[in-house]
Amino acid sequence: MIKIEKLPKPGVLSDNEEQWTDEYIRRKSGDLSIPKAAETRYRHPDIKSTLRLESHDKCIFCESKISHVFPGETDHIIPSSKKPEYIVKWDNLGYVCKECNRNKHNYYDARVPLLNPFVDEPKEYLLFVGPLVFPKPGRIRATTTVEKLKLDRSALIERKKERLQNVQLLLERLELFPHGSAREFLLEEIEAEADSSREYSATVRQFLNQALAEV
Ligand SMILES: [Zn+2]
Repeated sequence: MIKIEKLPKPGVLSDNEEQWTDEYIRRKSGDLSIPKAAETRYRHPDIKSTLRLESHDKCIFCESKISHVFPGETDHIIPSSKKPEYIVKWDNLGYVCKECNRNKHNYYDARVPLLNPFVDEPKEYLLFVGPLVFPKPGRIRATTTVEKLKLDRSALIERKKERLQNVQLLLERLELFPHGSAREFLLEEIEAEADSSREYSATVRQFLNQALAEV
């Protein structure tokens, strides 16, 4: 998980937010004159594409790249079942993988909210060690987030491990270039692996911090 800057609200949401919220609440209260589509307007393609852009096509929680193999969904940070008035609230929407979405389900506890990557700085709460992620001691929200989202699930660990092994191959090539511009180029390439747009960047960043400290 990394901090994500929210992009400006898409035009379709600025134009319709009030009406869509109102219709959603009426529909949910049993007003069947409102079409069922009122329940899923947050999935509008313009909203989805902006959410994907701001998270670099990754799940905002586990940083898995979204693809046909690992599909993603528009999710509510605070579930709409708890806060129907937030159904299309821009700050409350994010792009998440199916797995995190399923694990999160409708969890919401105002006393112990999950980490919110749009608001919180995840590295203040989470410790990335190799392919693993741990809550920092005493950070109850981090503990809850790791547990609820199952951020330590084995499928994630396996994929992060593969990712680190690929970065390790690049690091090994450094030995072939003890100095000079080729080495500089390779170092830049390695550092680009930790870019926010790359999969599991928090994991890779921490790994490189350790590995390159000794180079
Ligand atoms: Zn995820």
